[in-house]
Amino acid sequence: MSELNPKTKFIFITGGVVSSLGKGLASASLASILQCRGFKVRLRKLDPYLNVDPGTMSPFQHGEVFVTDDGTEADLDLGHYERFSGVSAKRSDSTTTGKIYQRVIDKERHGDYLGSTIQVIPHVTNEIKNFIVSDLEDEDFVLCEIGGTVGDIEGQPYLEAIRQLAYDLGRERTMFLHLTLLPYIPTAGELKTKPTQHSVKKLQEYGIQPDMLLCRSQMPIPENERKKIALFCNIKESNVIQALDVSNIYQVPLAYSKEGMDKAVCDHFNLHCPDADLSRWEKIVATLKAPEGEVKIAVVGKYVKLLEAYKSLGEALTHGGIANKYKVRIKWIDAEDLETGDVDSILSDVSGILVPGGFGLRGTSGKIAAVKYAREHKIPFLGICFGMQMAVIETMRNVLGIKNANTTELDEKCEAVVGLMTEWDKDGAKQIRHKDGDLGGTMRLGAYEAVLKPGSKAAEVYGSEHISERHRHRYEVNIKYKDQLEKGGMIISGTSPDGKLPEIVERPDHPWFIGVQFHPELKSKPFAPHPLFVEFVKASIKQSRLV
Ligand code: GLN
Repeated sequence: MSELNPKTKFIFITGGVVSSLGKGLASASLASILQCRGFKVRLRKLDPYLNVDPGTMSPFQHGEVFVTDDGTEADLDLGHYERFSGVSAKRSDSTTTGKIYQRVIDKERHGDYLGSTIQVIPHVTNEIKNFIVSDLEDEDFVLCEIGGTVGDIEGQPYLEAIRQLAYDLGRERTMFLHLTLLPYIPTAGELKTKPTQHSVKKLQEYGIQPDMLLCRSQMPIPENERKKIALFCNIKESNVIQALDVSNIYQVPLAYSKEGMDKAVCDHFNLHCPDADLSRWEKIVATLKAPEGEVKIAVVGKYVKLLEAYKSLGEALTHGGIANKYKVRIKWIDAEDLETGDVDSILSDVSGILVPGGFGLRGTSGKIAAVKYAREHKIPFLGICFGMQMAVIETMRNVLGIKNANTTELDEKCEAVVGLMTEWDKDGAKQIRHKDGDLGGTMRLGAYEAVLKPGSKAAEVYGSEHISERHRHRYEVNIKYKDQLEKGGMIISGTSPDGKLPEIVERPDHPWFIGVQFHPELKSKPFAPHPLFVEFVKASIKQSRLV
């Protein structure tokens, strides 16, 4: 810990009462308002589950898998962190119990603990502490969010580790923030404080006294209740912050600052600084509140029953809307509905069609039907990763008549226009994968550069011929189909720098039809919307004016 910058302070964020209170958003929002006061921040997530990362979990279980530039598959909260703070997350910002134990066991095998019995305390807790303080620079604040809810068995080593860290670093460099819920009981006509009191008691059992409570509530907390919470939870009244429900997540930083959250943090650490300049959020919220119009865009996917699976995508569309001063209304369509229902009538009321990333067979013919509809009706189309692969297969099958064109992910004996990647370059080094290798963490992951074709729509959208985007895929369009695809009206307008891997396809005969092998949604921010989403939404708005 010796190399730790003495000015760096740590805020530990825990959650209680129930899950899904929005701890990730709360952490991201607090980080953002501290930035608005001029501080440098870093956000970290510690997930108590046993998976090494969420990469092999079903999106229905875990929601979206967020991917960082350095190729880490991480919790979707890292997406909130990046969108609110603009700070690119790294491998060292996300851990899980699986990763922590993997490290401890590797060290044990290596003989690093020779002579010792390996135990949760101190070996596991030390590894958690090391994670929290490692790879930092000159940050003013490091915000560490502990996943799960206080009282979970899996979370105990994390609570012990942050308790110890506060002891090691001193209370003047650490702060405990606890997020709870005040349920409203209609028959009593009251907000109830008891679950919050119990949750704080639970934290105190682990030796943690929260310094600040953030209380989710559907209505303002009366003065009396606030006093009661402060008294029973041993917290300054000004540090009991109400977090009222808001209609849009980008209002949260403004709402928290209004409740005095950043001021309370500065008071806690005895920091004297100017008030937060929140103009960036004010502008965004003003645009969201008074859009000049509305545009309906279809997202045709497999996981639409759990929208958490498309978190960054939904946000990126919102950002594209903000840039155009329009509200984007997303029509979430289950791809399977396009297999059983009438495609024309389901898609007749949308001005843009997006087929996002995905895995596996279910819903694929529905996705291909959506591509066909967009192509034939000249509706703006954006295909992302699996969506791009589907667009290529659609051209092969429906324009060029190669009926068994497919991806080997779905059919090993097909005309393999999309095939398993077994070799590619990363920063000059060859990456090699085998068909029967491990599935966890072995995709083509993270930021890769691409070169765009001069004069193409893609180059026009980006305003550049060199880009870097984040990837997460195992299969890839085979470049050998380039000429054939061109005969079908589809050009490859972006490739890896060595020209071997197609990265972007487009149809010059169409007003706006682009497929990308990467995930642009992961890099979009409300105050820096991704150009592909800005232009896709713009094209969709134009389309809606035509009908
Ligand atoms: N399943 C496809 C692949 O592995 C696409 C992945 C994705 O859409 N992220 O290549």
